[in-house]
Amino acid sequence: MDLAFWDKQINRATELTWQSPSNELLSFYARVLSAQREIYEFLWTANQETDLKLLSETMPILLKAVEETGSQQLREEMEWLKTSSATDVVNMLLEYLSHPSPTRFFEKALFQPYGRRRWESGASEIASQAGGQECPFCGGRPQVSYLQFDASSESANRNLVCAACLLSWSFRRGVCVNCGEEDPEKLVYFQAEENNHVRVETCDRCRSYIKTVDLTKLGTAVPLVDEVASAALDLWAAEKGYTKIEINLVGL
Ligand SMILES: [Zn+2]
Ligand SMILES: [Zn+2]
Repeated sequence: MDLAFWDKQINRATELTWQSPSNELLSFYARVLSAQREIYEFLWTANQETDLKLLSETMPILLKAVEETGSQQLREEMEWLKTSSATDVVNMLLEYLSHPSPTRFFEKALFQPYGRRRWESGASEIASQAGGQECPFCGGRPQVSYLQFDASSESANRNLVCAACLLSWSFRRGVCVNCGEEDPEKLVYFQAEENNHVRVETCDRCRSYIKTVDLTKLGTAVPLVDEVASAALDLWAAEKGYTKIEINLVGL
């Protein structure tokens, strides 16, 4: 069990919320992370095998977070969830597993701590080989990319974080995460003057983008959180006609 992982996310989100108190997306995300920490801890400490039935029991934890800080739209979406049975929620999770959609907030938010708990406890790999564009554990798509100094190669290595199960895996630099394009002319990076440890990596072949958090520039950054905090870059990319590889939990 790695509660320190969640504490790191929550502390960074809280710190950034203090810096920009009017950023509602960020304060919502901080609250969702706390709920996910609680869900994760419940899944680890429950004295039974982690399955969808057990996960469905954690829905009230997430609903509380949405009730307190969620958007009007999410609060409307959760109305039926408040009165749904455990079987309804299990069916909803099963439906999501067969048709995953990045815009399904409730399922995605529950499956992140669930997935993390599964690979931490050594569940066998079910998906593709390491080093590819998909998560080697669950086959999910990357939410964010980050650069980190690697002492063995004495250079900054690139990693991707899975949007579905939060596993990190290494991925080559200078390659489009979506289509594999390597032509530097087609891969254009953009970053704001402020917070320049986060950049948008676009690809002109498939018109997609992902954000990269450079931990060699700002060691206190936390990829998933700094990705959410840099919403201005998503607006920039959308204006230029690029599509994000995977929408994050706050819907950007
Ligand atoms: Zn995954
Ligand atoms: Zn591409």
